[in-house]
Amino acid sequence: MLTGSCHCGAVQIQVPRKPRRLTSCNCSICQRHAGLWGYYEPSQVKIIARKGAVDRYVWGDKCLSLCRCAKCGCVTHWLPIAPDGNRMGVNFRNFDPSAIETIRIRRFDGAKTWKFLD
Ligand SMILES: [Zn+2]
Repeated sequence: MLTGSCHCGAVQIQVPRKPRRLTSCNCSICQRHAGLWGYYEPSQVKIIARKGAVDRYVWGDKCLSLCRCAKCGCVTHWLPIAPDGNRMGVNFRNFDPSAIETIRIRRFDGAKTWKFLD
């Protein structure tokens, strides 16, 4: 188990294991907040936060909501909006750098082609 948290600690994120790779995406939102995404099934991830501690942002085709700490603003994860959505993203910028420094980072062209650039 690996635990990360936003800067102020109001939002904790627990994942069962390290992801095999992390994704750096250049879509209109990711290029702004510079997250490093690891993907899981929502049932594998535990978000520990008080009610109201997480703000959500939904835009465009409304397929996911981007979640951030309402206090310190760190983007922590995204969730699928479809009830049967089986994938979510966890932003590993909120984890200890030493825990992720050996994980391969892939560059994903979310802005245009939806393919990996490397
Ligand atoms: Zn916070």
